[in-house]
This record gives sequence, C-alpha cells and structure tokens, in this order.
Amino acid sequence: MQNTLQLKAYAKINLGLDVVRKRDDGYHEVRMIMQTIKLYDKLTFRLLEEDAIRIKTNLGFLPVNEDNLVYRAVRLLKDTYGVKQGMEIDLFKCIPVAAGMAGGSTDCAAALVGASRLFQLHLSKEKLMELGVKLGADVPYCILRGTALSEGIGEKLTSLPPIPDCHIVVAKPPISVSTKFVYEHLDANGIEKHPDIDGMIRAIEEGSLSGIAERMENVLETVTIPEYPVIDKIKDCMRQQGAMNALMSGSGPTVFGIFEKEEDALRTKELIRKQNLAGQVYVVSPFNQDPAIGRR
Ligand code: ATP
Repeated sequence: MQNTLQLKAYAKINLGLDVVRKRDDGYHEVRMIMQTIKLYDKLTFRLLEEDAIRIKTNLGFLPVNEDNLVYRAVRLLKDTYGVKQGMEIDLFKCIPVAAGMAGGSTDCAAALVGASRLFQLHLSKEKLMELGVKLGADVPYCILRGTALSEGIGEKLTSLPPIPDCHIVVAKPPISVSTKFVYEHLDANGIEKHPDIDGMIRAIEEGSLSGIAERMENVLETVTIPEYPVIDKIKDCMRQQGAMNALMSGSGPTVFGIFEKEEDALRTKELIRKQNLAGQVYVVSPFNQDPAIGRR
C-alpha cells in the first residue's frame, strides 16, 4: 500500500478580472480568465495510522492548525468519508503569501487530491471540485488548472484552450493586501469600463498572444493602485523593458508581465530586484492542463 506521496501545487494569475455586480448576499459576481503558472509549492503527504493531522512548513508565520487550508482539506475528507487514518503533510511554500496568486487555495486543492489518493477514496476530479468549493471559491479551479473562464463567485468553470507559450515575470512587492479590503472598497455597481473578457476568450481560441495581452485588465487595480503606487511602478518597468503588457493579479499586490523574449524577461527580473521594487521576482511559463488528474 502507498504511504507517501509528493505533489506540486501551482499558482495562478488572472489574465483578466471583471466584477459583474455585487449580489444582495454581499458576494461579488466575477468573470475572470485564470491561468496556471509554473510557480509551485511542494506538498509531501505521509499516511499515519493514528487519527491526527500534522502540518510542517518552511514558513514559520503560517498557521499549522485548522486555519491552514491544507488542514481543512484533510479534515473535510476524514469527516465526509469517516476515515480513521491520519496524515502528516510537509508544506514547502514558494508561492508568495497573500499575494493574489491563490497560494492557499492551490495547497488546499493539492491536499484534497493527495489525501484522497492515500486514503484510497477513489474520488473523481468532479467530486473533489464539489468538495473543494466548500473550502474556497478558487479551490475548484486549482483542481482543474490550465486556462479557464471562472464565473459566479469563482466556482463556475469553463476550460479554454492553452495560451501560447511565453515568459511571465511575476513580482511581489513587500506589502500585504487583504482581499477583503479590496472588495469592500470596490464600487462594484459603479464600474464604468469593464474588461473585454469575451474578446480575450476569442483571442485565446485564436491562439493570439498579442490579442490576449492587449485585453489584459483587472478592475481591482482601481482600488489597489491608488493605495500602493509601487504596483504601477512595476507595471511601467515591465512595459519599458519589452513586456507585451503587465497587470496586477487578483487583489494584488503581485504584478505579472507577459514577454515573448526570455532575455527581456530575465533582464526585467534583475532590474526589478535592483530597483527594490519587489523582493520576490520569478520568470515562469504557463502551466497547461494535463487532462489526467493522476499526474500533478
Ligand atoms: P487569493 O489569490 O486566493 O486571494 P492570496 O494569494 O491572496 O489568495 P493566500 O496566499 O492564499 O492569499 O493566503 C491568505 C491567508 O491565508 C494567509 O495570510 C494565511 O494566513 C492563510 N493561509 C491558510 N492556509 C494557507 C496556505 N496553505 N498557504 C498560504 N496561506 C494560507
């Protein structure tokens, strides 16, 4: 019987993010183009015979109790299926925290996949996505992965064709942005210019990287950029260095730029570091969906 398993939990960026309206129940209805990128946390799972959930992580400030989404994922499976065994999880984080890259949600998704396998629950991807939405709106997408349209509160997903290969510079300035703060300060029903999400879908279907780049827009920037001007500075720097376009991901503060040439991306990364605009800077590429859930 398999006792251990290692999985990668990939981050996402939003190529486009629109807020359609604020619902009466306070939730925001969104339309987002999601893209998984090759920046990932590593999770190592070990089956325990005792009824316990233990988390170890390289980031001392992260919770290791039920406040960690990994813990909650394992707990949910144990409670739902009456599993008596336990799990020890070693969480090695590389994805910036509280950054708009779904770091916690993707760890949660990987924990659902990993624990269901070691507990031998034989759950389909669809079933895991159904369970995942109970833990966070972005969790089902993090199980699906690839290029996708996300609607509703983030739980209605439509897979799209993979975007053309490119180099993506990801830069997280040293500030923390609360997703709650951003949504609370967004005048959702007063947005004058909505991103062209349908146009971006057409550009993705046509495989046009320039068509995608020219439609990159995120309505949450209207709240975050006035508060944190460094976001705009990073975007300007990326564009000056040859990015086809640059945008804030999710509720920020992470900024990403799309580059055709790897040399431009690498030079931009060094420049952002040298100018102290961001401490965590990476050059990555898109991760495209693998239809078999077995391979992560
Ligand atoms: P999103 O893009 O979904 O808004 P985010 O990147 O803004 O996510 P996360 O990195 O998921 O935010 O973390 C937000 C908070 O969630 C952190 O402050 C942290 O305390 C808590 N958290 C719980 N579990 C995790 C986890 N496994 N990894 C990171 N943060 C976690």
